[in-house]
Amino acid sequence: MNIVMMLKNEKTSVPSCCCHSMETALSDREHPLYYSSAYQEFGVQLSSKFEYSVLSFCGWCGSKLPTSRRNEWFEQLESMNIDPWEHDIPIHFLSSAWWEKIK
Ligand SMILES: [Zn+2]
Repeated sequence: MNIVMMLKNEKTSVPSCCCHSMETALSDREHPLYYSSAYQEFGVQLSSKFEYSVLSFCGWCGSKLPTSRRNEWFEQLESMNIDPWEHDIPIHFLSSAWWEKIK
């Protein structure tokens, strides 16, 4: 089980989903399902509200979920000499904008 921190100030959005149930859960703010558009990760939000447990498969339809871009996110920032713990993160790295440009 991979528990990770949410990205502070992230601009989250509902991605195109594998099934209607996933899309409904992501659209429901009371539901603990979480999507990080910057990292392209799906997860279950923990009670702390700033961490989530990363999911590899959809719990409703069983589809394999997209591969996380978390490592790539850190590598890209490092290549620009940006330390995400100490520097301001460029706005396009707080959403899917950074990877949608390069796909
Ligand atoms: Zn699904």
